[in-house]
Amino acid sequence: MSGIQCESLSFSYGDHEALQELDLSVPYGEIYGLLGPNGAGKTTTIKILVGLLKPKSGSAQIGGYSITDKPVDAKQISGYMPDKPHLYERLTAWEYLEFVAGLWNLESGSWEDSAKFELERWSLDEVTHNLVESFSQGMRQKLLLIAGLIHKPKIWVLDEPMSGLDPKSCRMLRDVLLEEAKRGAAILLSTHTLDMAERMCDRIGIIDRGVKIAEGTLEELQSKSETNGQRLEELFLKLTEE
Ligand code: ATP
Repeated sequence: MSGIQCESLSFSYGDHEALQELDLSVPYGEIYGLLGPNGAGKTTTIKILVGLLKPKSGSAQIGGYSITDKPVDAKQISGYMPDKPHLYERLTAWEYLEFVAGLWNLESGSWEDSAKFELERWSLDEVTHNLVESFSQGMRQKLLLIAGLIHKPKIWVLDEPMSGLDPKSCRMLRDVLLEEAKRGAAILLSTHTLDMAERMCDRIGIIDRGVKIAEGTLEELQSKSETNGQRLEELFLKLTEE
């Protein structure tokens, strides 16, 4: 069974069709990279999967739960990192984690050690009791990631997770996601960081103007597009310019 499954998913902003009949499936243990030029529909897809937008047509399941019929169950087993990290400014990092642990119904005593470990690993231990309003974008992203990591989700959905992170943190994020996939999580991420996608994604889907134009392992995509041996960047440019 797939962790994430979309069938014929479509969405429009007014008259503008942002997503057209998207089929997508991410098995447990796989990292799937969703790529596409600006405005292709990546964030729209992700927002539908996490319940922030309602699809115009089609269906999607997260861990077997329909995102429209069982939205709370679907959210309960997911970790989400949005592209714009909005957090509660007047909470400290620790208060935010306490709040999130409450939402996940994590029992007191079951998550604190892991939160402390993650805060230290992501170099936020010295600002644990500072208000989130003083955090940079990268620090906010790290806090959102930690909030996900403390409840060990079966499903991860991440929208451009590398965009505000420094190179060391990007490398750490890649290692953490590889660990999470090894643990059995199904991971969908969107990114413009093609070298990172090349190194961590088991499969890649490319969408352009709301339509999936290619999908497969890097080798499959290279062979289909006659770009054997070339980097993902060349392949991406070739496919999206055609
Ligand atoms: P990027 O790489 O630039 O983040 P994306 O692939 O995530 O792009 P989306 O944000 O999903 O793309 O946008 C898909 C299309 O929908 C674009 O044409 C965009 O202009 C349009 N769109 C997105 N949000 C809205 C909105 N709130 N109202 C109207 N149109 C929107």
